[in-house]
Amino acid sequence: MRWSDVVDFLFPAACVECDAVGEGLCARCFPAAAPLQFDLGGLHCSALGPYCGPLRHAVLALKSGRRDVAEALGIRLSPYVVRARDVAAVVPVPTTVRRRRQRGFDQAELLARIAARDSGLPVVAALAQTAGDAQRGRSRKERLAAVGRFAYGAASLASGMRVLLLDDVVTTGSSLRDCQAALGAAGIRVPAAIVVARADR
Ligand SMILES: [Zn+2]
Repeated sequence: MRWSDVVDFLFPAACVECDAVGEGLCARCFPAAAPLQFDLGGLHCSALGPYCGPLRHAVLALKSGRRDVAEALGIRLSPYVVRARDVAAVVPVPTTVRRRRQRGFDQAELLARIAARDSGLPVVAALAQTAGDAQRGRSRKERLAAVGRFAYGAASLASGMRVLLLDDVVTTGSSLRDCQAALGAAGIRVPAAIVVARADR
């Protein structure tokens, strides 16, 4: 038995809004508004909804370590992954090593694994978020693969591949675009991104 099974037994999934046992965000509390489709500087982006109300509460609960909420949100992102055409993998936008350690998991990677389950697409953690300057102490080749806070380094992706980016919240889109550029420097194209919620600037 894994530790996560013990946690699930001790703390069964319950809705962040109404406390109903079963799902991290139940069907009744999930926002009824239509999902959002928008463009971020050439990157087509889909979101389950705006970052407010139940979606905001769910993302905050996820960031505080609630795996049951990741399951509820990931399942709702899954149709977007299944519908994606001509992509070879899902690449999560990574959190910092420090936050990952505090939380016990990387929230975007966990969301991606749940969202990609029915698609047959692999989830490739191809990017790393560096604490400070992504360029410092790197070789020329590594510098070319690092943009902003993100550095690319995955043997399992190849130049010419197309991938889908996945993150929890998008605000200005700078993280998504830096990830797109870091992958682009390695010849990997990012036609689209999917996120849980879109926040106002
Ligand atoms: Zn509920």
